[in-house]
Amino acid sequence: MPTLKFMDTLLRVHNKLEFLHPINGFSNRFSQLNISTSKRPCIKLAPKRPNLKWGKNGCVRASSNALLELVPETKKEVLEFELPMYDPSKGMVTDLAVVGGGPAGLAVAQQVSSAGLSVCSIDPFPKLIWPNNYGVWVDEFEAMDLLDCLDTTWSGAVVYIDDRSKKELDRPYGRVNRKQLKSKMMQKCISNGVKFHQAKVIKVIHEESKSLLICNDGVTVQASVVLDATGFSRCLVQYNKPYNPGYQVAYGILAEVEGHPFELDKMVFMDWRDSHLDGNKEVKGRNSKIPTFLYAMPFSSGRVFLEETSLVARPGVPIEDIQERMVARLWHLGIKVKSIEEDERCVIPMGGPLPVIPQRIVGIGGTAGMVHPSTGYMVARTLAASPIIANSIVQYLSSERFVLGDDLSADVWKELWPIERRRQREFFCFGMDVLLKLDLQGTRRFFDAFFDLEPRYWHGFLSSRLFLPELITFGLSLFAHASNTSRIEIMGKGTGPLLKMISNLIHDRK
Ligand SMILES: Cc1cc2nc3c(=O)[nH]c(=O)nc-3n(C[C@H](O)[C@H](O)[C@H](O)COP(=O)(O)OP(=O)(O)OC[C@H]3O[C@@H](n4cnc5c(N)ncnc54)[C@H](O)[C@@H]3O)c2cc1C
Repeated sequence: MPTLKFMDTLLRVHNKLEFLHPINGFSNRFSQLNISTSKRPCIKLAPKRPNLKWGKNGCVRASSNALLELVPETKKEVLEFELPMYDPSKGMVTDLAVVGGGPAGLAVAQQVSSAGLSVCSIDPFPKLIWPNNYGVWVDEFEAMDLLDCLDTTWSGAVVYIDDRSKKELDRPYGRVNRKQLKSKMMQKCISNGVKFHQAKVIKVIHEESKSLLICNDGVTVQASVVLDATGFSRCLVQYNKPYNPGYQVAYGILAEVEGHPFELDKMVFMDWRDSHLDGNKEVKGRNSKIPTFLYAMPFSSGRVFLEETSLVARPGVPIEDIQERMVARLWHLGIKVKSIEEDERCVIPMGGPLPVIPQRIVGIGGTAGMVHPSTGYMVARTLAASPIIANSIVQYLSSERFVLGDDLSADVWKELWPIERRRQREFFCFGMDVLLKLDLQGTRRFFDAFFDLEPRYWHGFLSSRLFLPELITFGLSLFAHASNTSRIEIMGKGTGPLLKMISNLIHDRK
């Protein structure tokens, strides 16, 4: 069967999960390959793995339940320049230690160092190009003067609600050139004097005016302020409420294909069609209850990024289930995959409680609850928030008041999560709670009404630009645009989440 053949291709080229932080009870994997079928790698195996058969060429073929057991040769791309390294022998107390060199951490390191403060950036792989395939709305990057960090843009996007209905979104979308963005940030950091330390931070000990960061290579970095930018691994920032997020789970491939049906000037933001599952009642049933959609970025007639995505579910949809749906969809769309350049497994925790605010360690990005609870997006919002955090740190470290320790951290947290942002997040969590309850039909009705709203509403919602008063108008407008069935559904399924949101808003008035 062609379907199985494609799955076989996926199996041979896929990469293995990287456990970022076992303490938090979920694993997250990002992988990056650069291979074609002609150079297909032999797959290295962990010992004693079941369900594996040797193929003719000495490579291993695997059944789908062995998918996560395989470890192919990976080619990780790194930046070529020399990094100025942190010298622990000097025993100096650096102004800011940034733990994690993702987009969030580097953005703050760059800005704090540009004010003349000393910064140490700590990451186990500081030169590695970020593995995730980031997409953003072009206006978000334009507002930050980052258009040079997009490698492809589309003049608009399409949303397939079902086989009969399609929405054309008149809002340009772009793919982040992650090599360019990281290089740009690293170069600025280097020229501002940032020092790098290649290690993992395993523990932080606080003294009154400084903190000691203990790394897994035995080095201790001393800093006045510690910023946790470790992404969803949430390494250092403390949480004091049960962590119960929803999960966005997706499987994506950057593939060379024989052809695809997508227009080249539009990306596919969401394809909720399900006719590809007509031949498989069981999967169709699963998809009706917890739907997945296709997200696609067509680069040329023969090269496309395809990602099957579960928007949000609790617990998250198993990746194997997502892959099975993707294989069926691509077959139905007549997309024949010739080779896969990269694959990406995405597990994004969405919503859930914020960290303890304030606390001594400050945070930004995934670790600080900044992912959009209804969409899973975060890059643009984090980059836009980084000057606020940076300014706050700079202001306090260079002020004559010389606020340090807990007082400084409290002020930085206040800047990151002011009441308006907390209320906004509460509304987005309400949105997530509603989405969690919708089946395929309900989800379709929801997005049918959502993308019919005035652009300022849906743009503002997706880009975190609306605050509570506007969000209430947005909610009422969405309700007004919804079909009668959808209104009844929103009232039935949304009342519980609405009451929860109101209660949380009342309790959080500081
Ligand atoms: C596969 C995937 C695709 C995504 N796509 C999009 C998208 O298209 N658009 C969008 O807006 N958002 C997207 N997101 C969501 C979000 O924007 C990204 O997860 C983003 O990378 C988060 O940035 P960050 O800097 O907070 O963390 P990360 O990018 O995860 O960086 C964290 C860094 O911390 C380091 N680290 C971890 N632990 C330690 C430690 N103990 N000591 C030192 N360093 C440590 C890690 O090595 C890593 O370099 C995606 C997420 C995933 C997982």
